[in-house]
Amino acid sequence: MADNGTGTVPDTSGHAVGASVRDARGELLIGGIPVSRLADRMGGTPFYAYDRAAVSRRAAQWRAAMPHRLRLHYAIKANPMPALVQHLRDLTDGFDVASLGELQVALDTGIPAGRISFAGPGKSDHELRAAVAAGITLHLESAGELERIARIGHAMGVRPGVAVRVNPDFELKSSGMKMSGGPKPFGVDAEQVPDLLAHLGTLPVGFRGFHIFTGSQNLSTAAIIEAHTRTLALAEQLARQAPAPVTSLNLGGGLGIPYFPGEQPLDLAPIAANLAGCIATLGPGLRDAELVMELGRYLVGEAGIYVCRVIDRKVSRGRTYLVTDGGLHQHLAASGNLGQIIRKNFPVIAAARASPVDTREKVTVVGPLCTPLDLLADQIELPRCAPGDLIAILQSGAYGYSASPLGFLSHPPPGQALVG
Ligand SMILES: *Cc1c(COP(=O)(O)O)cnc(C)c1O
Repeated sequence: MADNGTGTVPDTSGHAVGASVRDARGELLIGGIPVSRLADRMGGTPFYAYDRAAVSRRAAQWRAAMPHRLRLHYAIKANPMPALVQHLRDLTDGFDVASLGELQVALDTGIPAGRISFAGPGKSDHELRAAVAAGITLHLESAGELERIARIGHAMGVRPGVAVRVNPDFELKSSGMKMSGGPKPFGVDAEQVPDLLAHLGTLPVGFRGFHIFTGSQNLSTAAIIEAHTRTLALAEQLARQAPAPVTSLNLGGGLGIPYFPGEQPLDLAPIAANLAGCIATLGPGLRDAELVMELGRYLVGEAGIYVCRVIDRKVSRGRTYLVTDGGLHQHLAASGNLGQIIRKNFPVIAAARASPVDTREKVTVVGPLCTPLDLLADQIELPRCAPGDLIAILQSGAYGYSASPLGFLSHPPPGQALVG
């Protein structure tokens, strides 16, 4: 592949997904900075780098495609780096948090509390107290949680804002992770929601609406469209039994990004057209509700890379290994150990090489950990790399740093930078 080309060229691993931009010497650029220069600036490898402009572009694309009525929230869980969250404050209409730590990152951006919501099963009393004190919206995960929220609000003299997280009786088909349908620890089963709403109306809490999150990492427009249509129909039906008008309906998100060979980026146009049609025919129960899509990975996943350095190159019984200073402890998803059923290679590329020899070879890229699980790319084709060269894993802006077992084997954590 055009390793010495300029401009946007496909990555060099034979992967169809993940595009990279290179300078005239064939070196990967991130946020306009050659990756070896950034490595020096970071004080060494490994590190994550997130491209500010790429995140902005992605949010703008979503806004251009979607009906104006739809609001965009960022699910901080995907990447809680404070500088990145700060950047996303101006690009989105709100934040969804899932812990006290994420709540604090959200509040530090200066976003109004009314634009933050907090979902997650097992919120502890001190988390609920912090959320009520901050004045954000709590997404109820159970009847027991409702009791605790009401008690905490009463004791504090504050009326907590709540939305009911619903576990619908359908699932998001073709999802990387299913979060609804059947028995789930998330949300209140749809059939139990009417009773919960009746009880909620008797408690000193402010009813805001519903939250229906069906799944994550979906690349099927048909499945997403079906889930949206059914979500809106279910919300309409539940709204009739609500103790107060629905002012907010969170439709979830689940928009995926391509990671593996053969995967195609989502086309937002049919998803937007379906939503526009649904919105045009909304019944009275949702007519005045703010409609929200919450996205994590879709906003930040493709904007980030993980960079590590080749420490050793060795051949074992005919197989060539590049041993790097980065590994599964810092990028669990790329190692295939974050929920994947069949391990597939992330897009892994040679990012900067000291001596650009054009021969290509099949290599296995591993990390420094003493476990066979520490595999970053299995038998991929790369231009020949030597110790000192830099390797980059694309599509690494979401569920990277914070979703990895950073303490495993006691290496220092990787750096993180927001660039461009
Ligand atoms: C994890 C999560 C998200 C974000 O999912 P992505 O696949 O990153 O978009 C959104 N909402 C809820 C409730 C979640 O748990």
